[in-house]
Amino acid sequence: MNFEFNEEHEMVRNTVREFARKELAPLCERMDRDDYFPEDLFRKLGSTGMLGITVPTEFDGSGLDYISQAICLEELSRVSPAFALSVGAHSNLCLDNLYRNGSRELIETYVPQLATGKSIGCLGLTEPDSGSDSLSMKTEAKRDADEYVITGSKTFITNAPVADICLAYAKTDAAKGSKGVSAFVIESGYSGYRKGRKLDKMGMRGSPTGELFFDGCRVPANNVLGRENEGSHIVMSGLSVERAVLAAISLGIQEEMLEMSVKYSKERKQFGEPIANFELIQEKIAEMYTGIAASRLLIYSALSVLQKDRRRNKEAAAAIMFASEAATRSALDCIQIMGGYGYMKEFQAERFMRDAKLLEIGAGTTEIRKIIIAREVLKEGI
Ligand SMILES: Cc1cc2nc3c(=O)[nH]c(=O)nc-3n(C[C@H](O)[C@H](O)[C@H](O)COP(=O)(O)OP(=O)(O)OC[C@H]3O[C@@H](n4cnc5c(N)ncnc54)[C@H](O)[C@@H]3O)c2cc1C
Repeated sequence: MNFEFNEEHEMVRNTVREFARKELAPLCERMDRDDYFPEDLFRKLGSTGMLGITVPTEFDGSGLDYISQAICLEELSRVSPAFALSVGAHSNLCLDNLYRNGSRELIETYVPQLATGKSIGCLGLTEPDSGSDSLSMKTEAKRDADEYVITGSKTFITNAPVADICLAYAKTDAAKGSKGVSAFVIESGYSGYRKGRKLDKMGMRGSPTGELFFDGCRVPANNVLGRENEGSHIVMSGLSVERAVLAAISLGIQEEMLEMSVKYSKERKQFGEPIANFELIQEKIAEMYTGIAASRLLIYSALSVLQKDRRRNKEAAAAIMFASEAATRSALDCIQIMGGYGYMKEFQAERFMRDAKLLEIGAGTTEIRKIIIAREVLKEGI
């Protein structure tokens, strides 16, 4: 496994870094304190080409690769993992999925508005009774002439409270179990579509998470993504790329935690010298650095293979499993290095710690990632 960044990747990094530091950084405290989603800024990111980063320029995207999308999330996360999560849900889970699987008509209708930030997207898979076992969903869609009527609900959906367009899954043939699932593109204005509560979370505050209800929601039959009963292929073909791309949020968190730790430990003096001189502090710094180096390799090499073969599941699962656990550890280490100051909200490390934990749960939990890795290794070897 290997990867190399090219000029386009560096351009994405510089563009997003400047955007994040100039425009996003001043809003972070308010986002976390009030669970405030900076909607105008989110839509503005569309004008930089970063929302539709993986869709062709013909549909108002940037025509770049998944490595570019991950770099975008990595740089946003160094400032606000919550903002990066909302961007990831919009641009990868919803938009990239829609572009890869949609008919020409669906692509022409929805991709440009999502790529430019005119509309905000979300992906609705999880339900109150089906998370890891997502394909056991209860939401059903019944055909009625040239429409489907959808009944059911979704929960924990990133961007649901603000989304204009939802890519949602429902059973079109419940008797077929996971083989009877279809994907639908649903506009928030459709009759029977209702946004539920915005959920209050420990971290990722400022990335709105919510419930969705389909009370006999009427969706045009043409809005089936791909073919009827082929929704499980869409879920499965998107999940590994989604995992590897979202893992970049954990990488960005680790980079920020290390930078904060280095700066603080050089400035803070105890026993007459900077705490950076103490070997127990240096141990944490060495471990944080190693976590970053390993995560970077795992994530970007997984993405380079996934670009050619979307079924490389174990590489993606390993990347996010390792990076997410390393991110939580590095945030806790950063707090420890900062002592009492680290425990205070004003120094921000505790926000990154709360945000980091989500990546061990969302996009498939650590346990599910281990199952995927072990299953593939046992079947195919390493
Ligand atoms: C902030 C946030 C944002 C999210 N955004 C989205 C989104 O945009 N769209 C969306 O569809 N979903 C979203 N989710 C849902 C997320 O994908 C699920 O929470 C996740 O898949 C886990 O499902 P669950 O919470 O129901 O946990 P469960 O599946 O109930 O798992 C509970 C525990 O049991 C373990 N477990 C389950 N099965 C096994 C097994 N076979 N072996 C061993 N252990 C097992 C799990 O690892 C976990 O520790 C989001 C969640 C959060 C918290």
